Parts: sequence; C-alpha cells; structure tokens
Amino acid sequence: MADSKYLVLARKWRPQQFDDVVGQEHITRTLKNAIASGRIHHAFLFIGSRGIGKTTTARVLAKALNCLESDEPTPTPCGKCSNCTSIQQGTNIDVIEIDGASNNSVDDVREIRDNVRMVPTNSRYKVYIVDEVHQLSIAAFNALLKTLEEPPPHAVFVLATTEAHKVPATIVSRCQRYDFRRVATDRIIALLKSIIERENVQASDEALFAIARAAEGGIRDAESILDELITYCEQEITFDDVFAVLGLVDWQVLHSLCEAMLDKDIARQLTLVEDVVASGKDLSQFVQEILRYFRNLLVCKTAGGEGLLHLPEEELAELRAHADRFMLTQLIRLVEQFAELTSGFDSQLAQRIALEALLIRVSKVSIDYSVDSILEKLVQLGAGGISPQGAPAGAPPGKPANPPEAAAPSTASAPAARPQRGTPKTDPGPRKPAEPVAEIEDEPAAKAAPEPEPPKEASVSAPAAECDEEPPEPPPDYFDEEYGDDLPPDEVPVRRGHAAMPMAAMQTDLPFYPTANPADARAAAADPKVAHVLEVFKGKIAEVRKDAAPQAAQD
Ligand SMILES: [Zn+2]
Repeated sequence: MADSKYLVLARKWRPQQFDDVVGQEHITRTLKNAIASGRIHHAFLFIGSRGIGKTTTARVLAKALNCLESDEPTPTPCGKCSNCTSIQQGTNIDVIEIDGASNNSVDDVREIRDNVRMVPTNSRYKVYIVDEVHQLSIAAFNALLKTLEEPPPHAVFVLATTEAHKVPATIVSRCQRYDFRRVATDRIIALLKSIIERENVQASDEALFAIARAAEGGIRDAESILDELITYCEQEITFDDVFAVLGLVDWQVLHSLCEAMLDKDIARQLTLVEDVVASGKDLSQFVQEILRYFRNLLVCKTAGGEGLLHLPEEELAELRAHADRFMLTQLIRLVEQFAELTSGFDSQLAQRIALEALLIRVSKVSIDYSVDSILEKLVQLGAGGISPQGAPAGAPPGKPANPPEAAAPSTASAPAARPQRGTPKTDPGPRKPAEPVAEIEDEPAAKAAPEPEPPKEASVSAPAAECDEEPPEPPPDYFDEEYGDDLPPDEVPVRRGHAAMPMAAMQTDLPFYPTANPADARAAAADPKVAHVLEVFKGKIAEVRKDAAPQAAQD
C-alpha cells in the first residue's frame, strides 16, 4: 500500500531536468556540458546507493538526447514533446529500461545486442538503461562487453549499480563513471518543502528534518516516508508523527545519550531511558539504535566513515566529534556490550534494567582492562598524549601508537598483565567488598598511582623514555584497584614486574621474579598477551594470583 503511494509521489515529482536532480550537481553539470559540446559518450556507469537519483538522471539524459524540440541533443529537454513525455512515462520504444536482476542471462544480453543494431524508430539515440547491472551473469557481462567495444553510433548505455565492485573491470573501463552521492539533509529538507507546498500539505520544520534524517541521504526514502505521513496525518505533519510512523528514536536522543555517557551523567542517561519508555518506544529497537550509533562511531574512528556509513557530511561531522572523545577500546567494548544486550533479553523490564546497568557500569567503571588498552594508555603517557595531571574525562585520547615499537613510559614499571577480559556478561560477584565503586570512577590517567615508584629503577631495561625531566604521573595500578570489580573468576591475574626488586633479581633470564610461583608464572608467561606485554616493557612477572582475594600486595 505504502509502495503504490510512494510510486505516486515519486513519479509525480520526478525531476524533469538535470537542474531538478537534487544533490548530484557534480554529475548533472558534467552531463550537461558533454551534451552541449556534443561529446556524448556511448556508455555511462552510474554508481551509488539506492534511491538517490541514478535512474532519474538516466531518464533525463535520455530525454536530453532525444528531445524533439531541438535539432540536436540539448542539455534542457522540453518535457513536452512526444519523446520527452513517453520517456517520462517509461513507454518510449527507443529508451529501454532493463532490470539487471531479472534479465541477467546471456540470452537477455544477446537480445540487447541484436536489438541495438537496429536504428532507433523516432529518436536520435537508442538508450539502454540497465539497472542493477552488477547482477548480470559472467556470460552476460561478456556479451555486453562485445557490444560496448563496438557500439553502433546511435546506441547509448547507462549501466546503474549499487555495487560497483561487482562490475567487471573490463566493463567499468569502457564506461564513463559517475559516482552518485547521498544527499545532504538540508537538500532533502528543501526538496520535501517544495513537495508539501505543491501537495498543499502542512508540516513542521522539525518533522521535515526528522524525515530527512531518517532517509539517511536517500531521496526516494524521504519521498516514501513523506508519502506515508501524508496518509497518516490528517492535518499538519508533526515531529512526533514522524517518529510514530517510523517507530524511531530521535537521533538527537542518541547524541544526548552519548554525551551523557561521556560526561558520566547518570541521571541524564536514566532520564533519557525514561523518556524513551514513556514515549512508548520499543526498547529493543532503542538498544539497536544505540548499537548502530556506537557502531557508526567505531567506523568513524577506525575507517573514516565516508565510504562505509553513507551518511550526509554534517551527520558524519557530528559522529566524528563524538568518536574523538572515546578511546578505541572503549568503543569496541561498548559495541560488544550493546550487541550482547540486543540478544540477551526478551522482557521489557529485563531489557531496561540491563540497559541501565550497562550505562552505569560504563560511566562508573570507565577503565578498560584489556591489555591492548593498557598498552595504548601507557604508550600515550610515554608520548605525552595524556597530560600528567590526568586528562579530563572524554578528552581526545590521541592516536595510539603501535605498542611494540613505541617507547615505554618513563615510569614503566612493567605493567601487570592479565589475559584479555572475558565477555562482559561474566559477573564475578564482589571480590573485594571493601572497595566502594565510587573509588574507581576516574579515568586511569587521572589517578595517582597508589604507590609511586622510582621511575629510574623501574625503567631499568625499558627503551629510553622520551620524557626525561618531569615524568608523568605513573600509570595507575589497575590491578590492585580494579580486579575486585569485575575480574572473572577463571582469569589469572599476573602481578606486574616489580620496580623495587633488587637489580640482581632483574637480570636473571627467567620471565619472573623469585616472588612468583615458578609453575604459575611460566603458565602465565605462556599466554601470548602476557608475553607481548613482558616483551614490550621488558618486565617480569612478580606474582601470580589465581583469584582476586586480597593478598599481601607488593611489599
Ligand atoms: Zn522534448
């Protein structure tokens, strides 16, 4: 139902001119110039996600080539002659639209090949618009290639695809390639405004903005959503209508939640959850949207985002700003944890509690225990990436260097290593009941080490550190403070190499100090992560604990 309505709107307002195609000016301008100067290529490859104007542009191109109002191809087809109108309606016999998905056999392409030889009936050019061309079979591609190699002068091919990498290079190299972009939110809003004006429909600015955002840069999606809303709303389309129809949580809520998490503002986080619940939204969908949000942050942080997220530039900028405030390991953990959350619960209540617990945990226990993150933090300290006084929560962590090559921090008491944390769901129960949660809420860099150690001695065999005069605050001893909170019972913590050890003891070839149980220490040293840390920081195992029960700590 929505589909047929969508066709109505999209057809009704389908662009008639190159200038009407929204957000693809880099393409339409080139096409107009090519037509005006008579340099018309015989094969075009239109690449881009669905619903952003590929087929529309192909049709305008067909009209431009065949408009009868002009004696030759024109960049501004009239839109009124029989060719223009029949192309617009998809009934022109010289403009052949083929769905590559359902006409993908070699026979289909041979038919095109035979057909293409015949001169056009009422037009200057025979235009073949092949949608989803990547779905052609290999044999079909080969047949098509022959046609593209020696096309008759009256033939123009427009090959459109959402997946350019699936189109053989031999085909791509014979086409003029045009990359269609996702359309910026403000452009979509402007388009929607012009449509509702012509449709005589009222809509608030916020509503249009929400539609544009939900469409994520796709014109057709935006028109389709608007179509549904026009049916759904009797009078004015409001912001709430959009989210009611789409069943969505506002992007702004996700941004706010992210901010609140970064600020460790638990009251605000819970309020946001409360608001979502109160508005009757499906919590599982909310969690999935959070998950997708953090996944987008992760993509931004690791891969730039442009080619992977397909989001308008302003959205990317917002995501990047947030991504910069997280450490990579934090983001990975968040995504893992939210992913787990989406699969673990079926009741709304359980879901809500788990969500809230996770939010609190993330805020209170921000320290990432993984060896990777410890390496990252230590390397940052060594490189001056984190201020000695401790970075403010949420400060950009800086680029993590490659741990093995990086200089160890001057305070490099070989850090205690421990195997990678288990899955987040493991609940070890209170191991160190005496330790209140509140004591572990700070960023690690902000904490003074419980027992500062003489830097010189500590870095005995570490590579020369960069900071000579004022050594930064030593990294915290996570392993005394933090184990109690969430160490899975099966994990074996390894005490860090001990700075206070006599030099003699440090020069033995064994990977541990005499204070450690040799069998346990060897077993721990065999763990690849532990071995890596020992290698990087030239440290040794001082002690191996099988559980986190309080022990006579270092000395
Ligand atoms: Zn015309």
